[in-house]
Amino acid sequence: MVLRVATAAPERDELVMKATRYIYPFEEGDSDDKQLLGGKGSGLASMTQMGLPVPPGFTITTESCQQYYANGERLPDGLMDQVRAAMKELESKTAKVFGDACDPLLVSVRSGAASSMPGMMDTILNLGMNDEVVVGFGEAAGNLRFAYDAYRRLIQAFGAIAMGMEERRFVEILEKAKEKQGATFDNELTQETLEAICNDYKRAVKTDRGVHFPQNPWTQLEMSIEAVFASWMGKRAVDYRREFRITPEMANGTAVSVCTMVFGNMGDDSATGVAFTRDPGTGENVLFGEYLTNAQGEDVVAGIRTPKPIAQLEQEMPELWADLQKVRHALEEQYHEVQDFEFTIERRKLYMLQTRNGKMNATALVRTSRDMVETGVLNREDALLRISPDHLEQLLHRRIDPSADAEPIARGLPASPGAACGRAVFNADEAEKQGRAGEAVILVREETKPEDIHGFFQAQGILTSRGGKTSHAAVVARGMGKPCVVGAEEILISDRERMASANDRQITEGDMITIDGGTGTVYLGEVPTVDPEFGPEMKTILSWADEIRTLGVRANADTPEDAALAREMGAQGIGLCRTERMFNAADRLPIVRDMILAQTAEERQKAIDELRPMQKADFKGIFKAMEDLPVTIRLFDPPLHEFLPSLETLLLELGSLKRARDRLVDGAANPSSVEAVLELSLKESLPAIEELGVELPGSGGKLVIDELIEEKEALLRKVRETAEVNPMLGHRGVRLGITAPELYKMQLAAILEALAELRLENVNAVCEIMVPQVTEREELVRVRRILDEVREEVEREYGVTLDFKFGTMIEAVRACVRAAPIAEVTEFFSFGTNDLTQAAFSFSREDAEQKFLPQYVEMGILPENPFEALDIQGVGRLMRLAIRSGRSVDPELKVGICGEHGGHPRSIEFCYTQGLDYVSCSAFRVPIARLAAAQARLREERRSKEELQHPDYPFNVF
Ligand code: PEP
Ligand code: MG
Repeated sequence: MVLRVATAAPERDELVMKATRYIYPFEEGDSDDKQLLGGKGSGLASMTQMGLPVPPGFTITTESCQQYYANGERLPDGLMDQVRAAMKELESKTAKVFGDACDPLLVSVRSGAASSMPGMMDTILNLGMNDEVVVGFGEAAGNLRFAYDAYRRLIQAFGAIAMGMEERRFVEILEKAKEKQGATFDNELTQETLEAICNDYKRAVKTDRGVHFPQNPWTQLEMSIEAVFASWMGKRAVDYRREFRITPEMANGTAVSVCTMVFGNMGDDSATGVAFTRDPGTGENVLFGEYLTNAQGEDVVAGIRTPKPIAQLEQEMPELWADLQKVRHALEEQYHEVQDFEFTIERRKLYMLQTRNGKMNATALVRTSRDMVETGVLNREDALLRISPDHLEQLLHRRIDPSADAEPIARGLPASPGAACGRAVFNADEAEKQGRAGEAVILVREETKPEDIHGFFQAQGILTSRGGKTSHAAVVARGMGKPCVVGAEEILISDRERMASANDRQITEGDMITIDGGTGTVYLGEVPTVDPEFGPEMKTILSWADEIRTLGVRANADTPEDAALAREMGAQGIGLCRTERMFNAADRLPIVRDMILAQTAEERQKAIDELRPMQKADFKGIFKAMEDLPVTIRLFDPPLHEFLPSLETLLLELGSLKRARDRLVDGAANPSSVEAVLELSLKESLPAIEELGVELPGSGGKLVIDELIEEKEALLRKVRETAEVNPMLGHRGVRLGITAPELYKMQLAAILEALAELRLENVNAVCEIMVPQVTEREELVRVRRILDEVREEVEREYGVTLDFKFGTMIEAVRACVRAAPIAEVTEFFSFGTNDLTQAAFSFSREDAEQKFLPQYVEMGILPENPFEALDIQGVGRLMRLAIRSGRSVDPELKVGICGEHGGHPRSIEFCYTQGLDYVSCSAFRVPIARLAAAQARLREERRSKEELQHPDYPFNVF
């Protein structure tokens, strides 16, 4: 706010009053200043200034809202004076008078913050009516029925929003009146019924609130402005801002737009609708939307009547269809962005009531980005920047398997693509409760309202039986990228009984259902789904991203199949191949166990020799799949106990076996008989013997059960021996590699033999060998020594010279601090930010997310889950230190990241600003990372030097 400071106290108040401009008529506001005018106010100003038909009005600034809160929730002094003056202007523009009993000016009071928060705050229409005005207004309009309809809507909205009435009270009165008159839809109500409803509404207000619905239009206006300001801190709005991370810098308070009312419910030559300049579901370059004749805006959004597709307007009102086409082009030319707008047709004249950037799903974002570049509306850079990388995730959504033999039980409108499966729940609270408990749920409602938003957050998908593609459910689900089917009218829902039926099939709360938001189909049960595919538009966009980005993108992949997928997704190499993942295969685990349990060096070597050809085959497969691209193979990392049964399981099994033996000895059965043991195992609910993992010896007189017990006891001894209090900080990674070198020797030999054989097969394998858990230079020196010995042997045996890089994970705090000496003996660093985050916070990465982290984030102690979004000021600082130190020794040092953060857009941006060479993430996130890497470069280039060096620049960590 601009406050001029005067010297003398008496003059200061006067100056403040004069200097604080709370109001801008649509003709005057700076339409680029969304912060001041809010999104709606800025859109109305810009459309007015473009010459589009906007009803006259003005916007009360967001600063007034800030003042309202600074004043202890009281309107700022002088605001209402300015409102009165602005209303006077409106009166002269419209030649009507506010509160006039003959031809009154009526206005809407609408909320609108700088960041769009659809449906989260309040709006009141038809303001300025009272018992007298309604008659004059009806007579002037030549339609008393219509006037009473507008009046009842005012009392309902005003009562709920400005007077705190329960919406339910009005709905009950309305439903009763409909029933009495035998009407199905609101527009069938007669003037008499509507008049009676108005009276019942007013009585309900008096009964519930103890005061009358205010008859004075100025009181209505003042209370409405206050109510809109108050809705900024309403639960819905606060929840929404928290979920979508809308910070005060992005939006601080709501503006209030006061706009002359126009009516889409003045008869069949009037209508109201919402439309997008392009299809927000597919991106197709056509006007998309819906309208209702003889209706007010809220009817479309609330989905009370199912609206008509906008294309029908071409037949119904061709000249207005043509007007809308002109508006569509004008809006895109102005905004260089798809617009989502509201319009009203009052007696065949078009009025624009709102425009904002259209929320689209990823398919549409990608397609419109490509199309708008091709037609010159956007350049490539802007086209890339408008696609949020998170949105791309939607394209990774699954679809119903086309070969699945499933019959839909109902069909609705496809409102937001993707297939989702979950238990049906019939209210938002339940969806939230079950969702938070980890259950997959589908929120099923007749229609949704903004107060259901918390249920959306936790649901896998949304299904409604009413409403169109621009109904609340559709718009919100699309914005969130959640699968959604709306208007499935065959489904009859009873949320009180928590059940639904569709074509004789019942859905009871808790039943599994599947919805396909791409086709609008609904199925009972869990239907198989398939992976998505990238279309040509996506490929084009990603090829532009590849041209722009300088940060490499690799994938974390452990098998040849993963590697092939990574390549398909555009990975430029493998940044992390976790070799231990291969050890868990069914045919290998017993050998790995033999290796761990071996009593002698010979026994251990025997198991290791068995593993070696298997590992070699794995590596060859991966190198081949990634021919010409680098593959970073990490040597064995986890603690050994991960491959052994747990102590608890072993103790339980042993207990059962011993009890069984005692029973056998007591009884007559012969303990040497396999059948007897098996039979007993059934009776005693002893785990089936095969499940105990022990091969049954032949029944040649041996004491089968004693042998089993002996083997289990040996295993138990070994498990006890290897047990550690903190295994994640224990005998693992390079520490194991050095103290039990046979394992690393075997892995290194398998890697190098694979390389040598591929060389002979003329396959260009590009290999990087990486050591995990390093904290000290000397560890690497020792592994390198083993490597050099193995290399000599392999080169001699195969008669080739091998080429590869040798590097280390940086995942211990000490490795960051001692990065300079470490860089002396390595050619690359790869940040293992999963472990580094664990180490930096001393938070267990296995447990923290289930225990306290969500609360920490909710309580605002941490802004985000640091295992998901890189903690820039903590872990990021450590990374920066390591990069600087490492590169001070070796300026060519290659640096990457292979923790989960390598696929997180904002973390990727940080990595780019710190000069990393590449990020590595799961194959499915590779496209996201490619886009995020391009955006990181574009954003940095668009910032000035001062901005980049400013302490508030979030990626400045020192
Ligand atoms: C890491 O710690 O970030 C990492 C990539 O290794 P892992 O997740 O296998 O511990
Ligand atoms: Mg790790």
